Amino acid sequence: MSFDVEAVRRQFPVLAQRPYGKRLAFLDSGATSQKPQSVIDAVTRFYDRDNSNVHRGVYDLAERATAAFEGARKKIARFIGAEPREVIFTRGTTEGVNLVAQSWGRASVGPGDEILVTGMEHHSNIVPWQLLAAEKGAKLVVVPVDDRGEVHLADFERLIGPRTRIVAVTQVSNVLGTVNPIREITRLAHARGVPVLVDGAQAVPHEKVDVRDLDADFYVFSGHKMFGPTGIGVLYGKAKILEAMPPWQGGGDMILSVSFEGTKFNTIPYKFEAGTPDAAGAVGLGAAVDWLEGLDREGARAHERDLLDHATRRLQELPGLRIIGTAPGKAPVISFVMEGVHPHDVGTILDHEGVAVRAGHHCAQPLMERFGVPATVRASMALYNTREDVDQLVQGLHRVREMFP
Ligand code: PLP
Repeated sequence: MSFDVEAVRRQFPVLAQRPYGKRLAFLDSGATSQKPQSVIDAVTRFYDRDNSNVHRGVYDLAERATAAFEGARKKIARFIGAEPREVIFTRGTTEGVNLVAQSWGRASVGPGDEILVTGMEHHSNIVPWQLLAAEKGAKLVVVPVDDRGEVHLADFERLIGPRTRIVAVTQVSNVLGTVNPIREITRLAHARGVPVLVDGAQAVPHEKVDVRDLDADFYVFSGHKMFGPTGIGVLYGKAKILEAMPPWQGGGDMILSVSFEGTKFNTIPYKFEAGTPDAAGAVGLGAAVDWLEGLDREGARAHERDLLDHATRRLQELPGLRIIGTAPGKAPVISFVMEGVHPHDVGTILDHEGVAVRAGHHCAQPLMERFGVPATVRASMALYNTREDVDQLVQGLHRVREMFP
């Protein structure tokens, strides 16, 4: 099996369209990835053939729907090296962090305690902790980011103190592309008895993740960034920790029995899945896992590395362009600013050239402040991108320079 990008591209119907009559260069996969036909078909097939509520009916259709839903959980568990009961379906990364902050956090964090995050977190790995800290009289402590966009283990060593209750860190920065040394971070934190939540939203689309190998206590990600549907994501937690946690939302499916005197809660993972889940989404995510596992993933990584190298080299041709985030071993994400042009103008001009990039603060305003910019342009690549996409971006940026000399 070898990685064939053209064969991969043919599986993504969206990529064939021509905005403004131009070839589409989709360079915003960090925001959401496109979906292969097999994922689209899996969701359609579920509604065509298997749709019913899960865990409830005794009839054939309900049993098929439940089997499809639980089958997806098993696939995802295997994909990340977990047990099925450690895989909780959520709406996405954001909901996963909120679940941990509200359930584990409210039971474990008190006045004067500290929550350690890094300076490169997405808002979804900052704000849920701020809400918790405000409620409990705790505080956030921030691991600084250096000029290349890296964090240093020595800072974790220095900042994980007797009051630290949890370390919440992203595996891959959505702005800088920096890949953080998660294994070393969990080792340091665990040596001090502190659990670690890893935001894997930008990691799972690019690299093989094994939660046991990382020794993450919690690992959260979104289906829509890894070629699956929107509205579905995963919170992985170590079984022992999940079992000890109180429920978060109450409702159907998360109970064993209910009376007005009291309620007995269901076992994990169901204890954390109140209400009707996005079964079709889970099935679609299972199909995304199948699709990824059917690829030469090492070949895909090499392809992404080539794209990043090519893009980095070519962007340096442009006068007055500054790349933000230059850590070695980055994921294929490039943020940049152009002297004298607002990132939104860059984004709009590129759009007319058929190039889709993100312009803004990327839900990481503290990081923007760290680098002294209000916003950046971000080209984030996936395994279906080609050098042609990058060249189209560079050509579009030359056009920007002509308009803003
Ligand atoms: N964390 C990171 C690093 C992200 O890039 C994103 C999305 O951009 C999120 C969290 C939030 O993901 P979602 O909006 O799918 O919950």
